[in-house]
Parts: sequence; structure tokens; C-alpha cells
Amino acid sequence: MDRPTKSTALRALDDAFHVLFDASRAEPPPPLELRLDRLRRLRAAVAENEARFEAAISADFGHRSAVETSVAETLFLYVEIKHASKHLKKWMAPRRVKTALQFMPARNRLMAQPLGVVGIIAPWNYPLQLTLAPAVGALAAGNRVMIKPSELSPHFAALLGEIIAQRFNPDEMMVTGIEEEIGTSFASLAFDHLVFTGSTRVGRLVAEAAGRNLTPVTLELGGKSPAIIDRSADLDEAAERIAYAKLLNAGQTCIAPDYALVPEASVQAFAEKVRANMRRMFGTEPSNKDYSSIISDRHYTRLEALVADAGAKGAKILQPAGADDPNWKAKRKFPPTLVVGAMSEMTVMQEEIFGPILPVVGYREAGEPIAFVNAHDRPLALYWFGKDNAARDAVLSRTVSGGVTINDCLFHITQVNQPFGGIGPSGTGAYHGEWGFDTFSKLKPVFYRSPLNRLADLYPPYGAKLARLQKLLRLMA
Ligand code: NAD
Repeated sequence: MDRPTKSTALRALDDAFHVLFDASRAEPPPPLELRLDRLRRLRAAVAENEARFEAAISADFGHRSAVETSVAETLFLYVEIKHASKHLKKWMAPRRVKTALQFMPARNRLMAQPLGVVGIIAPWNYPLQLTLAPAVGALAAGNRVMIKPSELSPHFAALLGEIIAQRFNPDEMMVTGIEEEIGTSFASLAFDHLVFTGSTRVGRLVAEAAGRNLTPVTLELGGKSPAIIDRSADLDEAAERIAYAKLLNAGQTCIAPDYALVPEASVQAFAEKVRANMRRMFGTEPSNKDYSSIISDRHYTRLEALVADAGAKGAKILQPAGADDPNWKAKRKFPPTLVVGAMSEMTVMQEEIFGPILPVVGYREAGEPIAFVNAHDRPLALYWFGKDNAARDAVLSRTVSGGVTINDCLFHITQVNQPFGGIGPSGTGAYHGEWGFDTFSKLKPVFYRSPLNRLADLYPPYGAKLARLQKLLRLMA
């Protein structure tokens, strides 16, 4: 019987990978000028097509606020490119490392080398940022790049493929197809590093596939990121900031506050304040241009089911008047929703929400939020609001999360000098800025031996001379 042949798409994927791989092995590491030129080309490709990207991403969502695409995707990318371009020379330079006394006057240097080919698998929620921000670090570090966008971003992926093919040779960077079979085969290619951004479930599959090639992975995953409102918090300020962070991109943000932990006595007041802020910022009509749509009917139905389940199990559901207007669903806009009195038995407290629904959970004792967070998977982000520094430091030291913003949400991701990444089920590894450069480089230790030092000459025959050397070395150890 004939063995099934590989589909044309998969053969093309293999071929494209080998073009990148062979070039990475055949050519010397790209010098500073070429890396800067690649970053310039990347910026120009995006800058010349900003309006087209806004339209393509909006077409994929149904509606995506143009301001959100500009601020959270293009601007974010420009900051990364500018920062990398400015510091690249320093990052590439051999790093001095101390030499132990017994080897003096030898030298130690850490030499940053490109890994080779970096694969990037991206989700749909911030498609431009999450395909190209890892590419900035990978290109800066001198690698070749292969990108697989999400199957839920067809318009975006077509445009990205077009502009990358215009500006980059196929042995520098290329964009693959988006189909599911491409995803699984992509993860099985023998990359030198693989960056996956997406769900924890698929992250496991990708890690398994990469493990078969011993390909190191950076996994940027999801989960439930808590917002803790301390007793010392300014409730108005916390409500305003949480309302915005929850509704940005209609809650389809990996580091959106998933749920709020609020002192029992303030639950009702807090929920009302969040609702008022949501109304002020995003209005109460599905036609609001600042409010983005839910990516697919499947996700919309999933969110409806979360609210229905919480309501059936006794939570109080707060939505804008007219939430039953069929235009919400027709435009795939999900009414901003508060779930007051959420409990662990409700699905909304068991899965990452990834939509504009905020469960508000009451607590009585000061230590309860810490115990609650520690009883669940380590989150990608944690937010704490308050003025009591001792309470803040207790939360910081006793919980472990990917990152933290104090007295606001989201902003730790915009700190270009800080690493961004999760821990355990919310991710592995980190990138952004110099952390990205280091992630996508082999930091190779090189020891330059000095002819002046004979202490390392421990050659046989071992005799009295070695005994004296050993004695000296023991004194230094
Ligand atoms: P997803 O896991 O469904 O898909 C992500 C990507 O993986 C897509 O390109 C998809 O085509 C591909 N894929 C699917 N199956 C695959 C397989 N078997 N092998 C290889 N690739 C495969 O995630 P999504 O729905 O696109 O994105 C939402 C999730 O991403 C949320 O959980 C969110 O928290 C997370 N996320 C995390 C970050 C972060 O920085 N940590 C950022 C954005 C989104």
C-alpha cells in the first residue's frame, strides 16, 4: 500500500524552514549593521501599513478599536524596535566576567551568539504585537525567524505575510500559513528556539513537540490573574483602573485582571463603581467604536455560558440596561458584565475568562487573598491596590506570579527594561528588551588562558610538585 504523501502545504513548510536553517549554518553571524537594517525594515514595513493593519485586525475581530490597535500593538512594537536599535551594540559586545584568583591574570568573556532559527507561534488577541515583538528580539540577536500566526487572524496573517515577503529575503524571515495542520507541524520543526504565545492547553502540546527535538521554548501562556483590593485602597481609583484593564480589547488580554478580591464590606460599592466607570468609558451601546468585538461565535457562546452558570449558582449579574438587545450578539460585542458574589463552584472562577466579565469575590481576613492565590495555579499577572506598604510587601513576598503592577493593571508589560513572562502554568522564560536578546542568544562563556599562570598545570606524573600546588589550591578553595 502506498504511504500517504505529505500535503503540499507541509512540504512547503519544511522547505521554507530549511532555507532559513541552511543559511543560519552557512553564513557568519550578521554584523551590527545588518541587524539594525533588519530592525529598520521591520519598522518601515509596519509604519507604511498601519492603516491596513488596523483594518485587517478589525476585520478578523468583527470590530477592533483602531486606538487599541495603535496603542497596544504598533506603538508597543515601535518602542521595542527603538530600544533594541539603541542598545544593540552594547548587547552584542563581549561581556566581561570575573576570573577567579587561581587563574589570574587570565580573562573570562561571555560571547553572545545567534542561536540560528527562531520559530514564533502567535495567538489572535494582539496578533501584530505577539508575532513581531518576539521577532524584534530574535532579529536583534542575529537569528532567522519563522512566524505562524493564528488561524483566527486570516486577514492579518495575509497582510503580515505580504509585507514580510516584500522587505525580507526568505532566508531572513518568513510567515507561514495559519491552518491547524501547519501549527502542529510547525511545532515539530527542529528550531533552535521556539516562542509560543497562547493557551496553557496548547502550550503543553507545543512543549512536548519541541522536547522531541530538544528545542528550548519560551511559553507565554494564560490563566487567571487576580486583582487584590486591600482595605487601604482608594476604591474609586482601583475601580476606574480595573474597569479599563478589563474592557481593553473586550477583556481578550492575557494579563487582564481576571477577577477581583475585595473586602467583604466593600463588594457591592466596588462593583457599582466598576460598573459606573465601564459605562463612562465604553458607553452602553454595542455600536460604541471604542469597544472591541469578541473574536468568534464560539468564544461568544463560551462567555454567555460562564454568565449563565454563575447566575444559576446564585451570583448577582450586573450588565448594562438593554444587554438583551440582539445587536450586541449580532456585532459580537459582549455586554460588560460584573459577577457579584462569585464562588469557586462557578465555572467563571475555574477557567481563564478572556472576555469582559469581572467576578468580584469578597474576603474577610487580611491573609485570605494570599491563601486564595496560592491555592490556585501561579498567575501570569497579579495586581494589588492599596496604601499599606506592609500589606503590599506581604502579598509580594508570599505569592509568585509572572509579573506585578501595584496600584494599576497591565503596565508592567510596557516596561522595556523588565522581563515579561509567566511561571509554571502561565509560562516559561521571558523576553522584551535585553531579556529578549539574551533569550534568543547563546551566551557562550570563553576562558582565555594566561601564559603567565602555571597553577592549572596539574599534569602527571603527580609528585611533590603537585602536592605543593594542591596545597595552594586548597588554601584558595
Ligand atoms: P491557542 O493556544 O488556541 O492558539 C495559539 C496558537 O497556537 C495559534 O496560532 C494556533 O493556531 C496554534 N496552535 C493550535 N494548536 C496547535 C498545536 N497543536 N501545535 C502548535 N500550534 C498550535 O490560543 P489563542 O486562543 O490563540 O490565544 C488565547 C490564549 O493565549 C489565552 O490563554 C491567553 O491568555 C494567551 N495569551 C498569552 C499571552 C502571554 O504573553 N502570556 C499573550 C496573549 C495571549
